This record gives sequence, structure tokens and C-alpha cells, in this order.
Amino acid sequence: MRSLVLIGHGSHLNPESAAAVYRYAELLRQRQVFDEVVEGYWKEEPSLRQVLRTCASTDVTIIPMFISEGYFTETVIPRELGLGHQGPVPPEGVARTLGGRTVRYTLPYGVHPAMTEVILERAREVLPDADGSDTALIIIGHGTTRNENSNKVVHHNAALLRERGIFSEVHALFLDEEPKVTGWRERVSARRVVMVPFFASEGWHTLETIPEDLSLEGTVTTFTAEDGQEGQGEQTVYYARPVGTHPAVADVIVQLALEARGASVSGGDHATEHRAAWSALLERARQGMRMGEITVQFENGLYELRHALDEGRSSETLTTLVTPEGLRDHTRLDERGEHRPVHTLRNLRRGWRAVFTEADLPHAIHTLYPAVVEEGYAYSTHNLRPTPWPTTAKRQTGIYARVQKATPEQVEHVAQDVCGGCLKTRIWAGQRLSQTFLDGVPGAIPCAEACTFLVAEIREEVAGKRGQGGGH
Ligand code: SF4
Repeated sequence: MRSLVLIGHGSHLNPESAAAVYRYAELLRQRQVFDEVVEGYWKEEPSLRQVLRTCASTDVTIIPMFISEGYFTETVIPRELGLGHQGPVPPEGVARTLGGRTVRYTLPYGVHPAMTEVILERAREVLPDADGSDTALIIIGHGTTRNENSNKVVHHNAALLRERGIFSEVHALFLDEEPKVTGWRERVSARRVVMVPFFASEGWHTLETIPEDLSLEGTVTTFTAEDGQEGQGEQTVYYARPVGTHPAVADVIVQLALEARGASVSGGDHATEHRAAWSALLERARQGMRMGEITVQFENGLYELRHALDEGRSSETLTTLVTPEGLRDHTRLDERGEHRPVHTLRNLRRGWRAVFTEADLPHAIHTLYPAVVEEGYAYSTHNLRPTPWPTTAKRQTGIYARVQKATPEQVEHVAQDVCGGCLKTRIWAGQRLSQTFLDGVPGAIPCAEACTFLVAEIREEVAGKRGQGGGH
């Protein structure tokens, strides 16, 4: 048995941030190369601190869903996963034994050699007849002065494609560092110019800042072969879609995961604690249970989930959902349309019912309350170790290192405000639970460690910006 974990950045503010990882996870589940595909996030749930516990197998391959190496792939993700590794990841990845699991951490998918073909595919979509005589290719990277590794992949791909002679010129240009994309006209002499953003997703940069920096006028949405040609004097620019959203990326991920697996073809076992946690949940669910804000009822071999406040409402008045993904998408926003990065905040929307077989129930509950079953069971068996605030604070780096300056009073003040709206009980702050939802107490859910949402709020407090709409 094998688990594949896709790690995304996620966001406390933007519900679409995780969409690419959701989509690739679904594609990979359909291909059934791994027994399960799990997602984990820096700023959403399950968090990087929780995700290993949510893996069913003792054989885990972790792929950072990032387009290049850098701060997140080299510092944040290995640190939060507890890999005991910092800095550049070697080509063969990093392998560790953690909590009884064999864990392999790979390079990000963006640096896989197969991505060169994805760049070419994107270029051919907007200019199918590139012939090497009078066509330049510009690969646009983000660029950062913080980590030179992050641009290595863009330069590397430019060099490889230069050698192949498909284009008369190939350039690697960047948004935030030299050579900058804004100076492309001084560098490029070809009459036709194909620009391919080496970005993970379609967003602010690919839809707004790049077209603005390039003075591409007209509707800035998705430039395709039919509508994406913008006259630039003597030159014509063909602006492609970002490489990270190309469907072939799913093949790159599979290839990367299979390579990481290496000689280990036998896989692992079902993780004992994981199996016990879900057995305990299913036993409860068969009798009917409440958990957090939902009720679970078992009838005629199917499980029905709905908001506890909708108990007793006629099914015809509720929206019926039948897939875990449908349930996830329906409950991703609260009733005001706001993103819900912390699923245990008491803001689950009402008005739906979801019906599942026993095979799909764990995935469905996991989409509503990621990692809650595993952590609740671990707490009830005395296996959930709390991480006190000073330890969490000390671990923070980059812009979050500032939280180390927070006084205990500031931490408590913000926690009372933020955690006051959350179902969880802060065992990391010394609070106690005598029972859990597995004992029939719906709101008794342990919180082992301050979540990144709270950390971000404490950072705002220390900066004196809390309540002023500071973004995180
Ligand atoms: Fe909830 Fe607070 Fe724990 Fe975050 S830190 S999960 S808001 S209890």
C-alpha cells in the first residue's frame, strides 16, 4: 500500500489558491497509481504538521506542488514535516522514517526534466508553426533575490531549448529580477515572439502584472492561438498559458512519484493508528453521531451527512451532494461567500445533505474536517502531543519570525478572539478535554498546535496591524 501526498501553498484569503492541487489530486486518484492521494497545505488544512498522520499507508511519497525550488520547498515544507532537512533537496530526494512511516520527499514538479516538453507544448498552443527561422521564445519566471535556486530551472530550460534550435532565440526573463521581462524589446530581434509564463497557476501575475509589464493591450484573460496575438510594432507577441496548468503536469507528477519510489516496489502496510481511528469513527457513525457542526446518520447501507441545524428538515429542501469533491466545493465558502481556511471555525454553511457509501465516508469527513478523526483518536489514546506556543513561535522563519516577539498576553488575546470561534480546544495552551467527539461529545475536538491562521493573526497583532485588513 502506498500514499502520495501533494503539498500546496494554499491561502487564508483566496479560496482558489488550492484549486490546482485539488485538480491534480483528483486526476491522480483516477489513475490509481497510488492507493491514496492526500493533499496538505501550508495555509489550509490538513496542515503540513498534520498531513502525515492522515496517510493510510506506512509508505509515503511527498511532492511539493511548486514550480521551482526555493524558500518553501527547501525551508518551510521540510521543517514543518519534521524531515530534519534544510536547504537544497538532492536529485534523489530526501528519505526518512517518521512516526513509523517511510517518507520520501521529492524535488518540486517544476524542476522535473519532463517540464521542458510542457514549455514547448504551451508555446505550440499559441504558435503551432514555430520553425527556428524568425521566432523567439521567452520563458518568463517570477524571480526573487531571496533564493537564486528558484530561477535556476528557468535558465536551465532556456539553455536546453536553445540547444534544440526550434527557436531562433531563447531567453529567460523575470518579473522581479534581472534580466527583467520589461526589457524584452532590447533583447529580442525576432519578428515573432512566444512568451511562456513559467508559473504554477493562472492568477494575478499571469493575467495582470505580466501583460501590463509587456504593454499588451486588449482583453487580458487567456491568450490562445485564436485570440492571443497582440501587435507590437514589427513584432508579434504570442502569450501562452502558464506551464503549471497544462494537463501533462499530471504525467510529470506520476513520473516524479514513481522515480522517488525507486527500488521500493512492495509498498508499506496500512498504518495501524490510522486504521484504528477510522474504525472507531465508522463504529460511531453506524449508530448515528454528531461531530463538530454535522450529523451523520446511517440508513439502508448509506451514510447521510448534513449540518446539525438542518436536522429534521425535509431532504427536498436541501441540496443533495454525492461526491466528496462536491461536498468540499459546496462547503469551501461560508454563507457570506468567505473562504474557510480553518474548517473547524463555526461557519459551516447550511442547506445541504451529502450521501455516501462506507467506502467514500472517510474521504467525505476528511474534506469537512481534515485530520480531525486522526487527531481526535490520537488524543483519546494519549498519543497526541501538544506543541506549546513558544515552540511554534521559535520554529517560524521569514515574515513570521516576528511572532517570536509576541508577549504571552498578546498571544492569549488573539487566541481568545480567533479560537473563540473555533470548535477545537487548545490543548497546546494547556486546555483539557475529558472526552472527544468519538465518545459522543460533538464539539470536543483537540487542537494540538497553533494553526497558521492564528500565527498570521498574532503576527498582525505584533505589527500593530490587526483589524486593519493586513493580508496573510
Ligand atoms: Fe482553531 Fe485556534 Fe486551533 Fe486554529 S489554533 S485550529 S483557530 S483552536
